[in-house]
Amino acid sequence: MATATATATKKFVYSFGGGVAEGKADMKALLGGKGANLAEMSMLGIPVPPGFTITTEVCAEYYKNDRHIPEDVIPQIVEGIAKVEALVGKKLGDPADPLLVSVRSGAALSMPGMMNTILNLGLTDESVEGLAAKTNNPRFAYDSYRRFIDMFGSTAMGLEHELFEHALSAMKTERGVKLDTELTADDLKELVIRYKAIYRAHTSPSHDFPQDPKDQLMKAINAVFNSWMGKKAREYRRIEKIEGLLGTAVNVQAMVFGNMGNNSGTGVAFTRDPNTGENVFYGDYLINAQGEDVVAGIRTPEPISRLQEEMPQVYDQLLAIREKLERHYKDMQDIEFTVQEGVLYMLQTRNGKRTGTAAVRIAVEMAREGLIDHQTAVQRVSPDSLNHLLLPRLDPKAKERPVARGIAASPGAAAGKVVFSAEDAVHLHDVHPSDPILLVRKETSPEDVAGMNLARGILTSTGGKASHAAVVARGWGKPCVVGCDALVIDEEAKQASIQGHIVREHDFITIDGTTGDVYIGKVPTVDPEMTGDFATLMEWADEYRTLKVRTNADTPRDARRAREFGAEGIGLCRTEHMFFEDQRIVDMRKMILADTTEARVKALNDLLPHQRADFIGLFEAMDGCPVTIRLLDPPLHEFLPHDDSGQLEVAKQLGIPVEKVRQRVAQLHEQNPMLGFRGCRLPILYPEIGDMQVRAIMEAAIDCAKRGVSVHPEIMIPLIGTVEELKILKERAQALCEQLLSEAGLSIPYLIGTMIEVPRAALTADEVATEAEFFSFGTNDLTQMTLGLSRDDITLFMPTYLEKKIYKIDPFQSIDIAGVGQLIEMGVRKGRQTRPNLKIGICGEHGGDPDSVAFCQSVGMDYVSCSPFRVPLARLAAAQAALTNGGKVQRDK
Ligand code: PEP
Ligand code: MG
Repeated sequence: MATATATATKKFVYSFGGGVAEGKADMKALLGGKGANLAEMSMLGIPVPPGFTITTEVCAEYYKNDRHIPEDVIPQIVEGIAKVEALVGKKLGDPADPLLVSVRSGAALSMPGMMNTILNLGLTDESVEGLAAKTNNPRFAYDSYRRFIDMFGSTAMGLEHELFEHALSAMKTERGVKLDTELTADDLKELVIRYKAIYRAHTSPSHDFPQDPKDQLMKAINAVFNSWMGKKAREYRRIEKIEGLLGTAVNVQAMVFGNMGNNSGTGVAFTRDPNTGENVFYGDYLINAQGEDVVAGIRTPEPISRLQEEMPQVYDQLLAIREKLERHYKDMQDIEFTVQEGVLYMLQTRNGKRTGTAAVRIAVEMAREGLIDHQTAVQRVSPDSLNHLLLPRLDPKAKERPVARGIAASPGAAAGKVVFSAEDAVHLHDVHPSDPILLVRKETSPEDVAGMNLARGILTSTGGKASHAAVVARGWGKPCVVGCDALVIDEEAKQASIQGHIVREHDFITIDGTTGDVYIGKVPTVDPEMTGDFATLMEWADEYRTLKVRTNADTPRDARRAREFGAEGIGLCRTEHMFFEDQRIVDMRKMILADTTEARVKALNDLLPHQRADFIGLFEAMDGCPVTIRLLDPPLHEFLPHDDSGQLEVAKQLGIPVEKVRQRVAQLHEQNPMLGFRGCRLPILYPEIGDMQVRAIMEAAIDCAKRGVSVHPEIMIPLIGTVEELKILKERAQALCEQLLSEAGLSIPYLIGTMIEVPRAALTADEVATEAEFFSFGTNDLTQMTLGLSRDDITLFMPTYLEKKIYKIDPFQSIDIAGVGQLIEMGVRKGRQTRPNLKIGICGEHGGDPDSVAFCQSVGMDYVSCSPFRVPLARLAAAQAALTNGGKVQRDK
């Protein structure tokens, strides 16, 4: 007997609702987020219509099995349906009183609107009559049936949804009505006949609309599994970097109806405001409607607070559920509910997507409310979401007046060139990649995600706070305004009018997603500040952080800004950026074109006061903190013009023959400039260049020290590959520093170290550390040289490489741990073998990437350095890395 059940023991179907809960919230990988939470809500005694979840494992099997549901799953589905029938007291296909079910997707991570949903399944020509009689509401019955034929046809059978939409519009025109709700029961009965004819005409091979509910159900389940590999879903996973999931689960659940009259309705809500994080109940509902009507943004819904007036009891019940869910999940929830003839049912709960601003406020307030501790609050917020708090705001001093106001759906200000379709956004980006884009649509749909992703901001004329545009924009931290009634779009003509202003394609408009305001033209913006909850969360993060965070800055302004964001020093000052302004570039060119050392020294002497003044500014801005200054790094030809007219001008300016300029440019020309005459190779050949820079650093330090500024200069020598290079340059720099200090009669602590950018330097780090007093990993060049990949020439093939997963992630964005990571780990280990207290950091772009920061923590670096606006991200990432010991951080999406 035991053997008979051996193969049947694997569970593929989990029931929930009506007092049953076979799954629970922590089974998301298997049941998907929706299924796991429906089970959890059932367990908590919250009213959930009965149903069952087919596991994500079945989806994986479905694909292995050539898109067929494995045989041994079918009996469990049949049993699942039987349980629902028993709980509801109705039978699927019963002609007198049919059970109707919804069939919905639900992966482990939420993918809003990306996969298929079929409602009202179980209706047939016969059972629709039963439903009409039983509910005494033929209008409702036929409306449900026509919606089902549409959804089943378009999602399960791949017919164009527009075919049904056109038939609906035609019917409304024939009857002389505007709204769907004005169609009568007889009209809808007629519409069902037309829909079935469309179904028959467009299915291939042509067949009648299925009249066996079990057949409908199996086809619908297949359709949900198929949608997992649909274009929309794949695109969404690519953009959101969702990987490693088995597939989607399928939830089959007894239908409840929000469209049964004025004592019914449906809504979506968040337990706190997902824009601002404020602790208020926030959402929308529609009376006499089905769930999809709210999410699709077709009708503009009512704010949830009005439900208190319309259905006070239901509202109170919802408030109690809101409280219960937050206490249970200890996080903000995004819920869906339906009221059927005065009875409330919950259809979904999940951790709500929120803006970065809201994420921070919710984490801090929940910690203050005692729901979570500081450590959880710090781990709750994804570092990337802080970008949202670092978005520009409209300049309060700006004089422009808004021309219209919509619903503020996702904060931050954005100005951009208007496009009226997602395809046009993609096109504009292809042609002018740096142009800011503002996508203006009536509403958005999942097809638009590629264009939405490229846009700086999104503006729609319809839709509410839970519309597709709002949810997606919020998830991506993009400014968004929805439901802007004053906006009238003519898609064909590619223009819109807003309160009498005509806006054509590529005209500028500005939106403020914090207030909902819309402006014609480009409104100036200002930079953000770190105050309030943001500052609090950062303080909490600092309690756990062990890595220091510095900044890459070349100007006192950037340095000051970074300090306001919490930078603890400068990890990289690229001195070459200081040679481009005004007279400096002239002196620089004089230096490069000099024939003799004396002439070169003379030009360098002219540059010296400028450099010294720059460094004084940096030391003052970083009073008390270390400042790492890198000696000149780029190839010299970058400072000379390559075109005839530019060369002629330089010749005139310097009073030399143009031929001489040409010759020097030709002489400095390199086939592969990134591997040529640059970095430490420059001062090896022209020591006077290094001398001038070292002198400027030390004289600036002496000047500051004399005035009481606490200076900690760190002189950094770039691009060394052998210890000999470093030895030569260090000895010379040290001698000059000592000479200047003794002349000044001062002692200033300073360090001379190097960048690790050439793989050989990492491989021989033990030797390099005999000279270097610190290492700073220049992971831009290190990545370039390790992967043999020019950092400036990847645009052509990188997208394909990422798509084909040759690289899982752009290695210039996040450290290639398997390759470059080995060199870094070895560099740190070998460096410290020689010099146990060797100070080690990173100053490549990766220093501001959360996963790379976690890696830096795991190999034992002392600090990371990143651009000023990424400093808060790095602080939070460093805290999270410390809390997980450098391991992979699990954050809510
Ligand atoms: C690096 O190579 O990582 C680095 C910081 O230097 P740069 O980007 O200036 O070459
Ligand atoms: Mg470099």
